[in-house]
Amino acid sequence: MLTIDDVRSIPLFSSLAAPELERLAQTSADLRLAPGEYAAHEGGQERALFAVLSGKIEVIRLFDGVERRLGWRLPGIIFGELPIALGTPLYGSYRASEPSRVMRVEIREYYAIAAASPEIAQKVGALARERIGGMQGIEAEAPKARVTLVGHRWDDACSKLREFLARNQISHDWMTPDAPELAKRWPDVPSADGEYPVLKLADGTVLRRPATRELAQRLGLPTSARLAEYDTLIVGGGPAGMAAAVYGASEGLRTLVVEREAPGGQAGTSSRIENYLGFPSGVSGDELASRALKQAGRLGAEILVTRSVARIDPKSRCVYLDGDEAVQARTIILATGVSWRRLAIEGFDRLIGKGIHYGAARSEASATHGLDVYLIGAGNSAGQAAMYFANHARTVTLVVRGDSLEKSMSHYLVAQLRGKSNVKAQLRSEVVAAHGDTHLESIEVRDGASKKVLRHDCGGLFVFIGADAQTDWLPADIARDARGYVLTGDDVVKAGRWSHERDPYLLESSVPGVFACGDVRLSPVKRVAAAVGEGSMAIAFVHKYLQQEAR
Ligand SMILES: Cc1cc2nc3c(=O)[nH]c(=O)nc-3n(C[C@H](O)[C@H](O)[C@H](O)COP(=O)(O)OP(=O)(O)OC[C@H]3O[C@@H](n4cnc5c(N)ncnc54)[C@H](O)[C@@H]3O)c2cc1C
Repeated sequence: MLTIDDVRSIPLFSSLAAPELERLAQTSADLRLAPGEYAAHEGGQERALFAVLSGKIEVIRLFDGVERRLGWRLPGIIFGELPIALGTPLYGSYRASEPSRVMRVEIREYYAIAAASPEIAQKVGALARERIGGMQGIEAEAPKARVTLVGHRWDDACSKLREFLARNQISHDWMTPDAPELAKRWPDVPSADGEYPVLKLADGTVLRRPATRELAQRLGLPTSARLAEYDTLIVGGGPAGMAAAVYGASEGLRTLVVEREAPGGQAGTSSRIENYLGFPSGVSGDELASRALKQAGRLGAEILVTRSVARIDPKSRCVYLDGDEAVQARTIILATGVSWRRLAIEGFDRLIGKGIHYGAARSEASATHGLDVYLIGAGNSAGQAAMYFANHARTVTLVVRGDSLEKSMSHYLVAQLRGKSNVKAQLRSEVVAAHGDTHLESIEVRDGASKKVLRHDCGGLFVFIGADAQTDWLPADIARDARGYVLTGDDVVKAGRWSHERDPYLLESSVPGVFACGDVRLSPVKRVAAAVGEGSMAIAFVHKYLQQEAR
C-alpha cells in the first residue's frame, strides 16, 4: 500500500498539500513488478499516469517485429503522459528490468488532482511535448531493409532463410549473386560460391550460411526465456497458440510461447484465408500472424522463436527446450498443429527446397515469375496457393488424383479458380517423378485414364497433400490416438486414461494441467477459427486448474 511519503517522493507531486497526497496514496495502485513484468503495454488505450517509486523500468517498442529500447524510467520519473495529453495509445511498453515499484494514478484521480493544482497538468503537458519531439526523431528515420541477403535461388539454405525472414516480418532485400544491382548495393559482397547465402545486417554484421537461431539472435528476436517459471507455457505459435497467448497474457498469466520456426503456424503459409470472421476481403496468413504477434506481445506474452520443445516431464512440469534449457511451467498448452505429409516419389527428396516445396510461403511467389508451376493437391490450401501463384507464374496446374475439385475444395475457391485464365486442373492424374541436376527442371505426370506418362518443364512444384500430428516426442503419459492426435476431455475417459477424482476439462489431456488445442487435438475440425477458439478456451481451463491447485 502506498504511503504519503511514497507519493511525496515523486517530484511532480512533492508540492501537493497533505489532503491531495493522502487522496493519491489511497486511490492509486501500488504495482510491484518482478523483472520482466510490464507496467503498461505499447498501443494500450487506457489512460493512467504512472510514476516509478523504486527499481528501473525500460521503455521498449517493436520495430519491424524486433524490440528496441527507447530509454529508462527511474525513481521519481513519470510516464503515461502522452495518452493523457493527446488521447493517443501508449507509444512504448514499460517493463521492469529489476524488482520495481510503480504507482499508477487512475485518470479520474489525475483530473481531480490537476483541477486542485493546475501546475500538475502544465508539467504533464510540457513533458508530453518534449517526448513527442523524441518520437518524431525516431519515426523520421528512413525505413531500410534490416537484412540484405545474397544467395542462389535454388539453394535450400537460402530459401529457408528467406522464409524465416518473411515469417518473422523482418524486412529484407534478396539478390542472387548474378543480380546486376548487387555491385552497387553491396560492393564488397563475399564472392566465393561456397559462402552463399551471405547476409548483411543493418549494423554491418556479415553472416555466412547462418543457422536460423543465430540469425534470430543477431536480429534481437527472443530465443531464451526471461523467467524461470511461467503460469502457462504454450508449445507452438500457430493460431491456437497465439490465441492462448493473447488470452493468457491479457488475463494476467505469466505466459510463454515456444515456437520452433516463426509465429503463424500453417496459417502463416496460407496465401489467403477467406473465411476468417472479421476480414471481409480475406486475410493472408502472414498478415494474420503479424497481427497476432503484435497483439500477444503488446499484452505481455513472451514469444520465443527458433526454439523447439524437445521434452516435457509431466510430473515436475519441467519443459526442456532444444539445447537443454529448462523452464518450469504450472500448466502446459500443446498447440503444435500438424506438419505436411511427405510424398515418396523418385527424385523428390533431392530437390526439396530447390524447386519442390511442401506447402507454399508467399515469399516463394516472386520466384515463380513467368514460369509454369504445378501444385499437387485438391484441398483449400492448394486452391488458395493456386490463386496466389496465378498472379506471378505464367501457368498454374493443379495435379489432382480425383475426378473433380468440388469434392474437396470450397465452392468459392473453385469458382475463383475458374475465373483465372492461367490456372487449370489436371484431374485423375499423378506426379510420378521429378528431374533436375541443381534444381527442379521437369516433372512426369501420369494420366490415370490413359496411363500415359508425359514430361513437362516445371518452374516449381508445391505439394499440399494433407498433414499429420507429429507428437512422438511427447511422454507416454499424454494419451494420443494411433495417428498422434492428443486425446482430451471425454476421449481421455473413454480411452481409460483418466484416473483422477474430478472429470477432465474439455481440452485437458490425460495429464492434469496439460491441455491441447487446435489441429493437434483429436477433433474433426481443422480450421483457423476453431484453433483460435480452442486456444482462448484453453486459458479458461488453465484458470480453473490453477484455482483448483491453489485449493
Ligand atoms: C496452406 C493452408 C491454407 C489454409 N487455409 C485455411 C483457410 O482458408 N481457412 C481455415 O479456417 N483454415 C485454413 N487452413 C487450416 C489452418 O491453417 C489450421 O487449421 C490452423 O493453422 C491450425 O492452427 P494450430 O495453431 O492448431 O496449428 P499450426 O498452425 O499447425 O501451428 C502449430 C505451430 O506449432 C509449432 N510447433 C510444432 N511442434 C513444435 C515444438 N515441438 N516446439 C515448438 N513449436 C512447435 C509449428 O512450427 C507451428 O508454427 C489452412 C492451412 C494451410 C496449410
